[in-house]
Amino acid sequence: MKTLSPFSVKETNSFNVESIAPRAYFPKTIDDLVELANLSLSNFYILGEGFNTLFVKETTPIIIKPEFKGIEIQEHEHCTIVKAAASENWHSFVGFCIEKRINGLENLALIPGSVGAAPVQNIGAYGVELADYCQEVLWFDFKTKKTMVYKHVDCQFDYRESIFKNSLKNKGLIISVTFCFPKAWQANLSYAGLEHLAPSVSAKKVMDEVIKVRQAKLPDPHLLPNAGSFFKNPVIDGEQWEMLTAEYPDMPSYPQGDGKVKVAAGWLIEKTGLKGYQDKGVGVHEKQALVLVNYNAEQGKYIVDLAIHITNKVKSVFNIDLEPEVRMVFPQGEKNLVEYKNG
Ligand SMILES: Cc1cc2nc3c(=O)[nH]c(=O)nc-3n(C[C@H](O)[C@H](O)[C@H](O)COP(=O)(O)OP(=O)(O)OC[C@H]3O[C@@H](n4cnc5c(N)ncnc54)[C@H](O)[C@@H]3O)c2cc1C
Repeated sequence: MKTLSPFSVKETNSFNVESIAPRAYFPKTIDDLVELANLSLSNFYILGEGFNTLFVKETTPIIIKPEFKGIEIQEHEHCTIVKAAASENWHSFVGFCIEKRINGLENLALIPGSVGAAPVQNIGAYGVELADYCQEVLWFDFKTKKTMVYKHVDCQFDYRESIFKNSLKNKGLIISVTFCFPKAWQANLSYAGLEHLAPSVSAKKVMDEVIKVRQAKLPDPHLLPNAGSFFKNPVIDGEQWEMLTAEYPDMPSYPQGDGKVKVAAGWLIEKTGLKGYQDKGVGVHEKQALVLVNYNAEQGKYIVDLAIHITNKVKSVFNIDLEPEVRMVFPQGEKNLVEYKNG
């Protein structure tokens, strides 16, 4: 198995910060994964393409960067089954499917990153989530040293959540993802920015439109390092929502059907006056308050400091806790903001 010691993550994280791992492993066969499991590593981080990862300090744990490639297609009467390996690029995979007239993922075009990371936070955009089409996930378990299949129901998909991000974190890794695309397809145009398209529009046209809107709205991480939405949209209870809308009638809100309401994290940040705020080489994007950008900081700790500043402000104005969507990696492994603040 390919191994590098030491390994700089600078080229493989979209915040473009420097951090050094003592070693990096690049498994690309099941034998490689067994070899890796035999090492019984206790502190490591599985890295896809690093578009949702913030390396916070000068050093980082051992990196495991899977290199599983390949796409297989199986035609059935009513659906097309497509299995994509973890290290395929997500956007290229979406383009590949649409080119072959396998429709369904067009709303998820241009989401940066790998196929293997997509189920971890159940990526979503423009009214569609990975969970809508994910049939199963092929997993390698480090303890049993065997592969196993997680069917859709076992994946515990939710808004930016899955079992892979929670109870299975660091217990193994995703080798491939299998999708089921029904042949009866209808464009999903429910989301703002797509409603002007005719219901008979092709999936290719929807994909092109999504790409156009995303390019206009979001800063390109290759030009201005960022990881997309830094925070999840918080879900609050109905009582708090009523109190807040009495004061802020223009607050964007999305009822969740269980009495709870999802509110827009970007709007909350903007209302605290932090849109465009900059300090120590990092800042809140001037057009998209949900996106934190690295202008010229060498290290991720300045982004974390900014994230804490933002969460404190939002808490004091709205009494809402913002939770990062971005994975934060410290020398001891992944930590969330609360764990970091508590030392
Ligand atoms: C400009 C921009 C726009 C974005 N827009 C969206 C959006 O619209 N919707 C959305 O949902 N996200 C969005 N994101 C976030 C990001 O694109 C996704 O989270 C994507 O899935 C990250 O893929 P990655 O390979 O870079 O993951 P990484 O950052 O490398 O890893 C993310 C997580 O997945 C885990 N992981 C990676 N590979 C594996 C594997 N094989 N097995 C097990 N665990 C693994 C990592 O350990 C980590 O916890 C955006 C990011 C950017 C920079």
